[in-house]
Amino acid sequence: MEESPACARCPYRLSKRLCNIEDGKGLNSCPTRKKKELLAESMRLYENPETLKFAREASIQEGEGYQRLGMKKVKPVKPRILEIAEFSDKMGYKRLGLIFCEGLAGEAKAVDKFYTSKGFEMVSVVCKAGRTPKEAIGVRDDQKILSGTFEPMCNPIYQANIVNEEKVDFNILMGLCVGHDSLVIQHLAAPVTILAVKDRLMGHNPLSAVYNIDSYYAYLK
Ligand code: SF4
Repeated sequence: MEESPACARCPYRLSKRLCNIEDGKGLNSCPTRKKKELLAESMRLYENPETLKFAREASIQEGEGYQRLGMKKVKPVKPRILEIAEFSDKMGYKRLGLIFCEGLAGEAKAVDKFYTSKGFEMVSVVCKAGRTPKEAIGVRDDQKILSGTFEPMCNPIYQANIVNEEKVDFNILMGLCVGHDSLVIQHLAAPVTILAVKDRLMGHNPLSAVYNIDSYYAYLK
């Protein structure tokens, strides 16, 4: 069987890689060299006008995320919360769905206020909406956060169905658990982006553990 792509293990400097320059280098399994048919097939999907607009505006937004400082230097200038507002504007989105975890209720209030101040109509749904007991999906009492108590399940499918029914143009996820985010994404009708992911230990910045994976968090390996 053909070796699977392993870009994460590519040993060459970014500026010397085949995915960046024509005569660059790559692994034996390099998809830039080995998957040209799949690339052509993928590029054909951008012929859909809506997909093309989405891709183009996302790339323009990416470019606008930097200030140019001379020929070769750039400086990042925008936080993601603002980029989402600007991208939504570019796409002509008016109505945004904010799908959040109750653990970030304070942050959700601030985010809702921010996008409202930018002129968007907001629909927001917390993970515990519906107050359905965890037992409904087969969670045992000893598997709850606090045994012996009533715990509502996070209900990502319900969250998705609510914003679908509200016909939002674009969805923003904030702080959903691993797996709950996957279910929401599977069930949303409109496109989705992620403002923040949940990492209870790392202040919702999972990369903190990655940055320290060879030191303080080496025990995780
Ligand atoms: S596409 Fe090729 S050159 Fe680029 S990172 Fe992957 S293996 Fe390396």
